[in-house]
Amino acid sequence: MIELEAAGYTYRGGEPLLREMSLHLPPGSFHFLTGPSGAGKSTLLKLCYFELFPTEGDIRILGRSVRGMSRDDIAQTRRRIGVVHQDCQFLDHLPLSENVALPLKVAGKEPEPANLRELLGWVGLERRAEALPPELSGGERQRAALARAVVMAPDLILADEPTGNVDWDMSLRLLQLLVELNRMGKTVLVATHDLNLIRAAKKQVPARVLRIAGARLQLAGADL
Ligand code: ADP
Ligand code: ADP
Repeated sequence: MIELEAAGYTYRGGEPLLREMSLHLPPGSFHFLTGPSGAGKSTLLKLCYFELFPTEGDIRILGRSVRGMSRDDIAQTRRRIGVVHQDCQFLDHLPLSENVALPLKVAGKEPEPANLRELLGWVGLERRAEALPPELSGGERQRAALARAVVMAPDLILADEPTGNVDWDMSLRLLQLLVELNRMGKTVLVATHDLNLIRAAKKQVPARVLRIAGARLQLAGADL
């Protein structure tokens, strides 16, 4: 699903942030990405959904190398990846249901009202469909962001600190949704610094934990 081949990233004018990262995320796997703030977790996720391109090495996503992909290829491949952004990135003037359906619209597809209702029901927001994003609580925003990430039925879900701004009960609820998606066969990669969340997940799925330390990627031990 995602393979990093000695991939690295350096922001212009900066020190190398990510170095020689090699990794294989098989289809259907569940991985956490952890490491201190500023370690490069968001940057690594951005590489995985082509917001950034590696400055060293290569990344293969869904079997294709990011090197030499055309803009069209990139757009096509991106549609198979659902991203939960750290800051949700909603359009504040559009109701929740339209925000969730936006990826369909962008891809030129007409949202099916019944499917959209089912999806909002799945995240427990069926009664908030007409609310505007600024009216939503932190937990509602995160669940809406997750609904939007899966509206295109992606194979791969990338979530950047999906529980960053919510309390523990809501964190568990969001985790439950991610676990359900994984049980449906989707590959999941979650960046988080919340070790309690990782411990809770490991009771439910055979999640593996990757850690960025000193610009390198390590597989964390079972001692977490
Ligand atoms: P994390 O998600 O682990 O907190 P980030 O990937 O957000 O880490 O950031 C890693 C480092 O890269 C930080 O020092 C950050 O300041 C720097 N950084 C992030 N985005 C940019 C950018 N667009 N230009 C330059 N430096 C950046
Ligand atoms: P589809 O017709 O593909 O089922 P939906 O709108 O029902 O379309 O769902 C879109 C995506 O939302 C699904 O592929 C799935 O990822 C997620 N989803 C919807 N409902 C559920 C559910 N009950 N449990 C888990 N995931 C769901």
